[in-house]
Amino acid sequence: VMRYFDERCTGSKRMAEAAKRVIPGGVQHNLAFNHPFPIAMSRAEGAHLTDVDGNRYIDFLQAGGPTLLGSNHPAVRAKVHELLDECGPVTGLLHEYEVKLAELVCQHMPAVEMLRLLGSGTEAVMGAVRLARAYTKRKWIIKVGGAYHGWSDQLVYGMRLPGTGRMEATGIPRGSTAFTQECHPNDLDALRRKLLINRLRGGTAAVLVEPLGPESGTRPVHRDYNAQVRRLCDEFGALLIFDEVVTGFRVGMGGAQGYFGVKPDLTVLGKCLAGGYPMAGAIGGRREVMMLLVGGIGTTSRRAFVGGTLSANPLSCVAGYHALTEAHRSNAAAVAGRAGDRLRRGLDAIIQRLGLPYVVYNLGSIVHLQTSGVLLLDTGNPLKLFKARHEAKARKHMMEEMGAAYTAHGLVTLAGSRIYTSLADTDEVIDDALNRFDDV
Ligand code: PMP
Repeated sequence: VMRYFDERCTGSKRMAEAAKRVIPGGVQHNLAFNHPFPIAMSRAEGAHLTDVDGNRYIDFLQAGGPTLLGSNHPAVRAKVHELLDECGPVTGLLHEYEVKLAELVCQHMPAVEMLRLLGSGTEAVMGAVRLARAYTKRKWIIKVGGAYHGWSDQLVYGMRLPGTGRMEATGIPRGSTAFTQECHPNDLDALRRKLLINRLRGGTAAVLVEPLGPESGTRPVHRDYNAQVRRLCDEFGALLIFDEVVTGFRVGMGGAQGYFGVKPDLTVLGKCLAGGYPMAGAIGGRREVMMLLVGGIGTTSRRAFVGGTLSANPLSCVAGYHALTEAHRSNAAAVAGRAGDRLRRGLDAIIQRLGLPYVVYNLGSIVHLQTSGVLLLDTGNPLKLFKARHEAKARKHMMEEMGAAYTAHGLVTLAGSRIYTSLADTDEVIDDALNRFDDV
């Protein structure tokens, strides 16, 4: 594996060294797929990436999820070029495609009656939490176990349940997370207890859920979990926020809320929303709640403020509108989902044949490949905690080694543990990938 990096990635290595001098850690994302150094890509097309040294990879990272149509989709690219010729990327004023994109999302997601576009998923989650607090006049937020909802102070990754490891983020005053609580996925009794206790001290503003389960289904939830959370929210007058940054449009045009048949009050979107172009963030939801973003109008002068110089810029809106239109036309979620199923079946066969300590599971195009230990980490027991920490460290090391091995075999994944499939993943691509996984 290391010979591959030494001999065939000299251009990437040079660039990684230059990056390290001017970029902390030489990377913009602190993830395990940078071992022994990040590979620099120069071309992207459909299911494949090509690096600066001319090596070709099957792209299962999908930039972290947004490129459901495959990389650099030509129809979307052509529309972006047209727009750039007409008005450039931004005017700061209303543009036709801002309206078209919002209409399209509202049409496919019945719970989204109105939409406000923002710069990223992180911003959109922050805005949704603020809206929920403004609407309910309450402060407590309950999020469901260990999920990543962006890097805002109140929700940042690393704010873990007892026993799942220490904080990964510093520079956050304790007070910032004072009103954020966590609850294990699938534990409805614990959620009810928290809602009950919070009722005695002002009440819960919102329950924040990734509808497939934390980390978009790494720890899956039961089929009726979301419906039960919906019922609890209604009982306690809390808003239900679905973080569909990963699942929106990828699970289907109606998102995971369509799949589970549950209507949240607020929906957070990102990633696929802009088809891989920047500005992937939006809050959608009930008109009455969303109107608090306006403030001063109607019966209330309460206002939840959000902003963003480049929010709703025409470049991102045109890309998002055409990417989603194309996703709908081509039934991209279902096609990518079948590729995900094929990959999962093939990986499972490899795991079984070789007796590897792995589990593989998917919902459509979101495939999880985990060492079996990961699911056992949720524990408050100190002895188990020690063991869990030890395992977490060993697992991190193994993930780095595996990440490097995948790269050397022409596979790009999200830290070796998440695989996104796309519309571009034909049976041939998946079978080619399975041979490579088998070699790894
Ligand atoms: N929520 C979820 C569920 C996510 O997966 C992510 C990003 N991976 C975010 C929020 C944050 O989105 P962004 O990276 O666009 O800020």
